[in-house]
Amino acid sequence: MSINWIGRSKETLTQYSANKQNFRLMLNEWFYNGESYDLEEPCEACELCGYREIRYQFTIQNRVNHNELLVGSECITRFDLSGIGENGEYTAPQQTQKRVQRDRQRLIKEARLKRVLNCLIQLSFKAPQLEMEKTIEKFQDRGVFSPKHVLFIFWKLDEGKVTYDPRDFKVSLRRNREKDQMDELKDWQLKKLKLCLTPAQKRTLGLE
Ligand SMILES: [Zn+2]
Repeated sequence: MSINWIGRSKETLTQYSANKQNFRLMLNEWFYNGESYDLEEPCEACELCGYREIRYQFTIQNRVNHNELLVGSECITRFDLSGIGENGEYTAPQQTQKRVQRDRQRLIKEARLKRVLNCLIQLSFKAPQLEMEKTIEKFQDRGVFSPKHVLFIFWKLDEGKVTYDPRDFKVSLRRNREKDQMDELKDWQLKKLKLCLTPAQKRTLGLE
């Protein structure tokens, strides 16, 4: 990042804040209002510091004149901006940063679920005999697959030449039936399935 982000931020804030003199007072006018967006690609610039390649946008709002800017999560952290709590109260910077991280994680998860859903839909067109409707419905409900089911889906996706990232697919190992399936996997299946497992799941299974 260029050293000029602070100069750029001062310029923006002077333009959009009520106070025009003191940088800290200007910053105090702004808070994260809880609205965040995923652009699906790093294609925008932060409206505060000008940093390019922003994928996740967070809305900061001015409490005096109600101006809004779409910024990267970094700017909220770096400038110790406040936020807004569940009951409409202003929150301290530390708490706000936690919320930004939480919202960012949520956007990342939603994007991942959307990619999986797209794969399943593509497969339903390529292989209508699989009757994917039920799988899609179940996935939208649970967001995870059983080990054997996910391997079956990978097989069919490969067969249908649908591009996918196995790491997007998450596996549930909570039910006994799901745990039992793990013991029945062949080595190559386990190798493929490992890409779907969380670090905690791998530790539990002794795969780390
Ligand atoms: Zn920024």
